[in-house]
Amino acid sequence: MYPAAFDYYRATTLQEALSLLKQHPEAKVLAGGHSLIPLMKLRLASPSALVDIGRIAELKGIRRTDGTVVIGALTTHREVEFSEALKQWCPLLPEVAAQIGDPAVRNMGTLGGSLAHADPAADYPAAMLVLGASMKAVGPGGERMIPAEAFFVGMLTTALQPGEILTEVHVPVLGPGTGWAYEKFPHPASRYAVVGVAAVVRVEGGVCREARVGITGAAPKAFRATAIEQALAGRPLEEATIRAAVEKAVGPEGLLSDPFASAEYRAHLCAVLARRALLRAARRAA
Ligand SMILES: Cc1cc2nc3c(=O)[nH]c(=O)nc-3n(C[C@H](O)[C@H](O)[C@H](O)COP(=O)(O)OP(=O)(O)OC[C@H]3O[C@@H](n4cnc5c(N)ncnc54)[C@H](O)[C@@H]3O)c2cc1C
Repeated sequence: MYPAAFDYYRATTLQEALSLLKQHPEAKVLAGGHSLIPLMKLRLASPSALVDIGRIAELKGIRRTDGTVVIGALTTHREVEFSEALKQWCPLLPEVAAQIGDPAVRNMGTLGGSLAHADPAADYPAAMLVLGASMKAVGPGGERMIPAEAFFVGMLTTALQPGEILTEVHVPVLGPGTGWAYEKFPHPASRYAVVGVAAVVRVEGGVCREARVGITGAAPKAFRATAIEQALAGRPLEEATIRAAVEKAVGPEGLLSDPFASAEYRAHLCAVLARRALLRAARRAA
């Protein structure tokens, strides 16, 4: 399958990319190409131009400023998976990245591309919600930070405005007494999340001070399972408590249903994967 004809522009700096987007308002940004190119080949997207940002050095790399890890949008899934810095400061992200697709996808796909694409079955969004991450967008109106809760707007839709480029992801460093885990039921063909659950818990004196549970794959966009979070706050994270908290906490209403998994099955997976993720997170926090 071949995509429709398009013009191709390669930017070498962020400013050049922004000005190309201004000159060609119908253009789409190209990063790793592992979501956009398949869509173009299927003719589900036919942009008349692509602005390739893949070689912009300032959009790459992982650094720390005070209590925040700053990850360049062009950082590949593989770089996230094997980053010693992230394993130390934010180990949930390497655990998530290791479960994305296959080695070819992880070598080419980028963190920014995945977040900007906002596939409902993508893995990172659940982690971004529980980590309290923010996305930095730069565009014609300057730069702004968008918290994860506001960034994911709906299926394949984010808060990014036309002409804006996602440049960085800011993630607070996980503190002491914090445990984390990501559990996923992958689609057997694509490895996308039929359901994926990210959990972060903070334990003090044997009691859960804060639990955050993010769910992807189940609904048109990732969401926090607030009923589970509230049921755990202030209680010891014992297996029976976790089991009771996840039981029927997410119902099938509003969940996705397709030939592979019904809304009811996805609701069941939410409970099973939330229990597993919380149990592992609790062990790590101890
Ligand atoms: C076989 C296969 C299996 C996969 N399995 C999984 C999986 O298990 N889990 C998972 O999460 N993902 C999976 N993916 C998707 C993969 O992670 C993609 O790499 C990712 O979704 C998109 O990243 P990209 O860099 O390739 O973006 P591209 O395909 O280049 O772009 C995707 C979209 O985002 C826009 N965009 C890209 N970068 C930016 C930016 N910096 N600012 C603004 N807009 C931008 C583009 O214009 C486009 O609309 C799979 C893909 C394939 C092909």
